[in-house]
Amino acid sequence: MYLDHFSVQNYRNLKQIDTHFDPNVNIFIGKNAQGKTNLLEAVYFLALTRSHRTSSDKELIHFGDEFANVRGQVHKSQVVLDLRALITKKGKKVWINRVEQAKLSKYVGQLNAILFSPEDLDLIKGAPSLRRRFMDQEFGQINAEYLYFASKYRQVLIQKNNYLKQLAKGEAKDQIFLDVLSDQLAGIAAEVISRRFKFLKYLSHSASLAYQEISLAGEKLTLTYHPSVAGINADDSTESIYQKVLANYQKNKQTEIRKGTTLSGPHRDDLEFKLDGKNAHLYASQGQQRSIALSIKLAEISLVHHLSGEYPVLLLDDVMSELDHDRQSALLNYIHGKTQTFITTTDLEGISWEIIKQPKIYHID
Ligand code: ATP
Ligand code: MG
Repeated sequence: MYLDHFSVQNYRNLKQIDTHFDPNVNIFIGKNAQGKTNLLEAVYFLALTRSHRTSSDKELIHFGDEFANVRGQVHKSQVVLDLRALITKKGKKVWINRVEQAKLSKYVGQLNAILFSPEDLDLIKGAPSLRRRFMDQEFGQINAEYLYFASKYRQVLIQKNNYLKQLAKGEAKDQIFLDVLSDQLAGIAAEVISRRFKFLKYLSHSASLAYQEISLAGEKLTLTYHPSVAGINADDSTESIYQKVLANYQKNKQTEIRKGTTLSGPHRDDLEFKLDGKNAHLYASQGQQRSIALSIKLAEISLVHHLSGEYPVLLLDDVMSELDHDRQSALLNYIHGKTQTFITTTDLEGISWEIIKQPKIYHID
């Protein structure tokens, strides 16, 4: 898929933009603080109805204005879609082909975008919550069922935790209601966990191939999912995962009541990256961690293609300056001709652009 006609009003410092993107490579070049990342973020917002930088949509509205509007025409192999997202101080609205969508979940996934920025290093170095957010965001945009179960899980988890707190304070007494909530939560947890296993298996395989290509090194990259409920395995059926999560909730019932919170489940699980069997969080160099993070994003391109038959658009923010010449070439070779790519940079010099035939260059000022 690719984004053709694209327009923006009042998105951060971008007052007004109306353009047709190149189906292959678009380069946004400009000095610092001109709006290059804002432009990538606007494309990302059109795809996912949220920013990668903030959870507060209000920040996205140009200072002093009342709304921000982003619109784009997405070309897929079979259809052309007109997508629109409007952000106001009261909330956001979305349209597909001028028809307003009551549910964001019906809209997300029409345009798939994979973004890579320097902050993605935190995926390897940072806290487990970042890796869970990664799974929820990325799997959510490619699989509507995942999006549904992940959000349902958050909802029922809040409900169960509130009830646990009431039990802990003695404000509630009925433990049967707790059992009902735990049973419901275990069922949804199993749907989330089994999908995470399935998608990660695919990601691990293609991330390992991408790593070998772009890092120009022989180490093997693997991704392993670590469920917080002991005894769950990658080849377990959803039913068997449900049984194990439920048994775990029952076993820890009194501790959960005492602590007023649910101690295990998808919200406590983690993801591990290994190079030749060694934990990358602990042992990989800065450059290796960068290559791992990039490989995972590239693997997502394959995953989206595998599931939908379409390649997503790729947004690369400040990535080129971080890679040496050989790795830049390897990256450009890897994506060339596959996916529509947007690249920000402050400087065209020293970058191996020869691989890209005729990029469209935007000077952002
Ligand atoms: P760099 O090369 O440093 O990454 P950039 O071109 O990517 O720079 P952006 O992150 O896109 O820069 O930000 C451009 C400018 O947008 C910043 O100076 C910032 O102050 C401004 N900005 C951010 N939010 C808003 C807003 N809501 N309204 C107006 N301007 C904003
Ligand atoms: Mg920037």
